[in-house]
Amino acid sequence: MTSPVILPGQSVGILGSGQLGRMLAMAAKRMGYRVCVFSPEANSPAGQVSDLEMVASYEDDSALQRFAAEVDSVTLEFENIPASALQTLSSVAIPIHPSAEALHIAQHRLREKTYLKAHGFPVTSFESVCSLEELKQALTRLSCPAVLKTAGFGYDGKGQVKINTIADAETAWNGYETTAAIVEAFVPFETELSVVAARNPKGETACFGPIENRHQNHILDVSVFPAQVSTTIAEQARKLTLSLMETLDYVGVLCVEFFLTQDETLLINEIAPRPHNSGHLTIEAAFTSQFEQQLRAVCALPLGSFEATAPAAAMVNLLGDLWQAEPPDWAALLRAFPQAHLHLYGKAAAKPGRKMGHITLTAATVESVVELAEAIKTFLTQSVTAVSTA
Ligand code: AMP
Repeated sequence: MTSPVILPGQSVGILGSGQLGRMLAMAAKRMGYRVCVFSPEANSPAGQVSDLEMVASYEDDSALQRFAAEVDSVTLEFENIPASALQTLSSVAIPIHPSAEALHIAQHRLREKTYLKAHGFPVTSFESVCSLEELKQALTRLSCPAVLKTAGFGYDGKGQVKINTIADAETAWNGYETTAAIVEAFVPFETELSVVAARNPKGETACFGPIENRHQNHILDVSVFPAQVSTTIAEQARKLTLSLMETLDYVGVLCVEFFLTQDETLLINEIAPRPHNSGHLTIEAAFTSQFEQQLRAVCALPLGSFEATAPAAAMVNLLGDLWQAEPPDWAALLRAFPQAHLHLYGKAAAKPGRKMGHITLTAATVESVVELAEAIKTFLTQSVTAVSTA
């Protein structure tokens, strides 16, 4: 299907209604679009800032038809949308970006790694495993340590376990509820990096990064831009990302997550067919945010400049662990750190590990922005400790 230009005043539909949809909806509202979100959740982060929030299951065909009647273009903020929903929407001739094919690949770790390897992109060694016996055999070939992951529907390290020796295989496998899994060689990486890029239907591209990512308990904790890597590595990471978008004939925003090993090898860990947590800092640190780029790409508009507007930036995730009976003392935080840009996602219930918001910082140097990010983390953890011991 050709992609008509969707102009301000027209309607953009978003499948999924979390924080990524919220920030996309905010970018779209700023540019004068009408926004309609679709998800099973009511009063969602994205729904709160949209013109219309449709609450229904992704399997509800008639609700999807009503959604299609409301919008001129559809995109998503959550990749695990069932293929049937995309089929229903394409059958009513609404442009959907990224494509069902790109989603089919990105929503399943095994398909993703198989595709990447088949098209010459660097990935760690991996095998598909469907039984304990297959897992043990794969471990003898890959050697330990290794990481066992569910093949589909995984994010933030959910459904994955590290296997240190073959003797651990049985316990690891028995903890699994699925029989479709992927086991991959553990990568003793130096750094984790990501590149966020956009591509519109004309094939025009823009690229931001690499960003350096630090995780805690498999969840992104802090992102720092620019990543402290050589220009060769930075250039290579951007080139791989753009080349992957070309190979997929991709339209939208794509994030590629990399491992950088000690011997300066880049391996792709994962791709996200949407804006990414590590790219949130583009709201304050780039001429065009990753959300506006997604909007422009899926509306077939020219992309904006993805040049950085600050020499250095950092993003600190705010997880539900920081919430006690009350939310953190935002007034105290903003008093202590007047440079902090606070983003909260409008989620009612805070749970450990749940992404409730983030803070962005910009500074003149990477050292000073990292120092500021650390100071904010310490401030927030000390507030939690103070409340829990009071
Ligand atoms: P994922 O859900 O695949 O993105 O994994 C979440 C995090 O687990 C990554 O960001 C890494 O920190 C870690 N991880 C995943 N796969 C591997 C691997 N093969 N080797 C080392 N660490 C890994």
